[in-house]
Amino acid sequence: MTKSYQALAAYCRETATINSLSALASWDQETYMPAGGADLRGSQKALLARLAHERAVGPRMLELLSACESDPGVKADPVLAASVKETRRDIDLARKLPSDLVAEIAGTSPKAVAAWREARAKNDFGAFAPWLERMVALARRKAECYGTPAGGEPYDALLNEYEPGATAREIDAAFKPLRTRLADFIKDLSRGAAPDESPLNVTISPERQHAFGLFVLRAIGFDLDRGRLDVTTHPFCDGIGPGDTRLTTRYRESRFTDALYGTLHEAGHGLYEQGLPKSERFGEPLADAISLGIHESQSRLWENWVGRSAEFWSWVMPHARTMLGDSFGSPTPEAMARAVNTAKPSFIRVEADEATYNMHVMVRFELERALFARQIEARDVPGLWNKAYQNYLGITPPDDAKGCMQDVHWSSGLLGYFPTYTLGNLYMAQFMEAAQRDMPGLKGGIARGEFAPLLAWLREKIHVHGRRFRASDLCQRVTGAPLSADPFMRYLEAKLRPVYGRA
Ligand code: ZN
Repeated sequence: MTKSYQALAAYCRETATINSLSALASWDQETYMPAGGADLRGSQKALLARLAHERAVGPRMLELLSACESDPGVKADPVLAASVKETRRDIDLARKLPSDLVAEIAGTSPKAVAAWREARAKNDFGAFAPWLERMVALARRKAECYGTPAGGEPYDALLNEYEPGATAREIDAAFKPLRTRLADFIKDLSRGAAPDESPLNVTISPERQHAFGLFVLRAIGFDLDRGRLDVTTHPFCDGIGPGDTRLTTRYRESRFTDALYGTLHEAGHGLYEQGLPKSERFGEPLADAISLGIHESQSRLWENWVGRSAEFWSWVMPHARTMLGDSFGSPTPEAMARAVNTAKPSFIRVEADEATYNMHVMVRFELERALFARQIEARDVPGLWNKAYQNYLGITPPDDAKGCMQDVHWSSGLLGYFPTYTLGNLYMAQFMEAAQRDMPGLKGGIARGEFAPLLAWLREKIHVHGRRFRASDLCQRVTGAPLSADPFMRYLEAKLRPVYGRA
């Protein structure tokens, strides 16, 4: 490592430390903060965001970065060169945003989230609408500051924050055919026999579910000395920094699999966070996740590819019988694997099955895109949302709480984010085809509780690189092909057709 790079890395590490305090404040906001703390939390987050932003775009940072860019030692080292290039990208983006706007977004979001939470509980979109308008207005201003890329649209500027290089047009081109394929597939499944869900309809206490969740976390390799699991209304993973990765879940006594799969999903994000080389490189792009699409590929992988497989249930069944108690009964692993793969249209995205899930994402993508093209306004969202659900899934939400107010994203200021969920599903299936080529015994190992080979493969192929590669380059490197929806459709069909007797 060169001297110039060392100086840059040390400076970036301090900025990342400020950001880690924001992350900790966000975690606390969702777990333990009393409702009355929202205003103070807004001020805290606004101040931290301003400090981090001013450091990131200040003269010292530019000086350190320029020194690296003209250092032959950095140029000669492909890893350092990639890191400096990504840092330049971040800084150029950050410089387009005024610190006041960054602080305003960070300061408004905790209040908008608090308003959303109350409005959702009362099913009162009218109370949330002014906050949604404000968050949309702030995001539109952000998109204007970033500027619309040549040949693109305002949405691209926001999407680029979460999925560098992706554009709305490309996403649309990928989503349209996928939507048709999924709609045909869902229709075909509906002609089959729906699996028996009775093994899921048992009452299990949150305490037992929590102990079981921790057991599964340990088994798949999540390090609880460098992470924790808490309870929230909206499960998430917060990779705060080196040695500190926080997961949250929620327990429903009458459906223990909600928490199990929520925990496995967040654990997938957490394993990625724990696999990034943060102790050595915190603050450098080399210790950051590539994109949200790649992040989501990791969570969906553990939740669905592993957790909803018959092999997973054959391994976990004896443990589940002991830990979940008598009410769990004694279903066979095959019966459990069928029950957790029921596919049918439903209202709530985070509870949706793998076949219908992407339809939920497409609805949100279309609405966000129209909001940023200024074709619609925040107040139009509920009506258009319900219409789109009828169109895409054949169901109309009974109210806005189960409709357009179900997700926390828009109130948090996360606009342009949803498409990354579907990208994650596609990356996941493509990565796992490659993993099985590399490790033919992978599934058999999972039936014996051997998760270490899969985790080691993910670490080596994906986690350890941080942001050294772009998502599309990583996909090509790991799988030998550009991203395609084919592996995902193959995966879904192979898994769900037998469940519905449509093989
Ligand atoms: Zn996720």
